[in-house]
Amino acid sequence: MKKLFLTCTLLVALCVAMFAQVGQAKYVFYFIGDGMGINQVNGAEMYLGDQQGKKSPVPLTFTQFPYVGLSMTYSQSNPITDSAAGGTALAVGEKTSNGTLGMDHTHTKSFESVAERAKKAGYAVGIATSVSIDHATPASFYAHRPSRKMAYEIGTDLAKSGFDFFAGSDFVSPDNKKDKKATNLYKLVQDSGYVIVRGFDEYNKRGVEAGKVILFQEEGKDVNSIPFAIDRGADDLSLTQITEAAIDFLSKSDKGFFVMIEGGKIDWSSHSNDGATTFEEVIDMDNAVKKAYDFYLQHPDSTLIVITADHETGGLALGIGGYALDFGQFKNQKRSQAELSKSIIALLKSNKGKVTWEQMRDLLKDELGFWNTVEITEQEEQILMAEYNKMMGIGTIKSKSEYFEDEEIAAVAIQILNKTAKAGWTTNSHSGAYVPVFAIGAGADQFTGLQENTDIPKKIIKAAGY
Ligand SMILES: [Zn+2]
Repeated sequence: MKKLFLTCTLLVALCVAMFAQVGQAKYVFYFIGDGMGINQVNGAEMYLGDQQGKKSPVPLTFTQFPYVGLSMTYSQSNPITDSAAGGTALAVGEKTSNGTLGMDHTHTKSFESVAERAKKAGYAVGIATSVSIDHATPASFYAHRPSRKMAYEIGTDLAKSGFDFFAGSDFVSPDNKKDKKATNLYKLVQDSGYVIVRGFDEYNKRGVEAGKVILFQEEGKDVNSIPFAIDRGADDLSLTQITEAAIDFLSKSDKGFFVMIEGGKIDWSSHSNDGATTFEEVIDMDNAVKKAYDFYLQHPDSTLIVITADHETGGLALGIGGYALDFGQFKNQKRSQAELSKSIIALLKSNKGKVTWEQMRDLLKDELGFWNTVEITEQEEQILMAEYNKMMGIGTIKSKSEYFEDEEIAAVAIQILNKTAKAGWTTNSHSGAYVPVFAIGAGADQFTGLQENTDIPKKIIKAAGY
C-alpha cells in the first residue's frame, strides 16, 4: 500500500513537473511589424553595425530569440497581400481577399480572431499600434467588415469588442460621413465604458485606474499615426510607451492577457523606399519588444512572445552590385522623407516661392549631408538640379506613395542617399517575399519551419489554450 502511494505521488509530481516545463502561455505578446520583411530586419542590424564602425550586423533583441521560422504571406485573392488580408490571416487564421477585414472573401461570413477567443476565455485583451487604431492590422483583431476603408464602422466594432486596452494615434474618421445622425466615435466608446487618455503622462494619471482604456496621442497631432522614430520629439507618444502602458494595464488581470502590438510605419517608410527611416522604425519596434522581453524574464514559464510581419514592403535588397554595403551613409539623414519634404515646402514659403539653387543645396547639405559627408557625383547633382528647375518652373511636384505625397525633389534625394548606401528597392508597393517569425517562451517551439501566415494565430491559441 505504502509502495503504491509512493508511486502515485511520484507520478503526480512528474506530471506537475512536465506541465510546468511545457507551460501554458498565460501572457501572450504578438508583435507585427507591418511590411517588415527579412531584409528590413537584417538591414536594421547592418545599419546598427555600420554606425558602430563594424562591417558585421549588431543583433536586435528579437532576432536572438531561440525559435525562428518563415511565413508565407499570399492572400486568398492575390500572390501579394495587402495589410487587411495579411492582418486577417494573422488574426483569425483564415485567408481572405485583399481589402477584407475579419471576413471571408464573399463577405458573408465573419471569422473569430485570436483576440476575441482570448476575451471569451476570460483573458484581458489589448490591441496597440503606432498608426491609427482603425487601420487594417489592428482592426483585423476586432472588426469584421468587407472593406478596410470603412473607418467609422470599424470604430463601432471597436466599441463593441469589449477588449480592455487599445492604443494608437487616434480614430481617422470619428464621424460617420454618410449618416450625420450617427453617434460620434469618441462618445460611442465612452458610452461603452472606455476612458480615453491622451499621451503617456495622462495614461499614468488617469488611465491606470480605468476599467477599460484607449490611449491616443495628444490632440492636434496627425491622427493617422504617431511620428516616425527618426522624427520623434520629446513630447511625442512612442511605441515603447504604448507597450509599457499595455503591460501595466493588462497585467492587472489574474487570468493573464493577450496583446497585439503593431509597428505600423515600417510599411509606410518602405512604401517611400526610405531606408534610414525604415531601419529606425524596426529598431524602435525592437525597443518595444525589450519591454515584453523584460516581462518574459519575470514570467519565463508562462509568457509567449511572437514577432512576425504581415508582408514585406518595397522589395528591399541589401546590395545593388558588388560586395559592399555602406549603411553608415544613412546616419547623415536627420529626418524622414516626409519631414524633408515639409522643410522644402517651408523654404519655398519663407522665400515666396523663389528659392535659389544654392539655398536648395544648403538644405540638402544640412538634412542629408550631401556634398559634405555624402559624396554627390556630377550626374546626381544634374538629377537634383533638374528636379529643382522643374519645381521652380511649374511649382511643387508631388511624388505619391501609399501614405505620403512628398515633394518630388525630396523623394529623388532620398533615392540618391539609398543608392549611395547600396540599399536597393524594387517597388513602392508590397512584395510577395517570405517574412520572418521569431518566438520565445511557452509554446514558442511551434513557430519554426516554413508556415502559412494562417497557422500563426492557431499556434498561439494552442499555446495559450484559448
Ligand atoms: Zn503597405
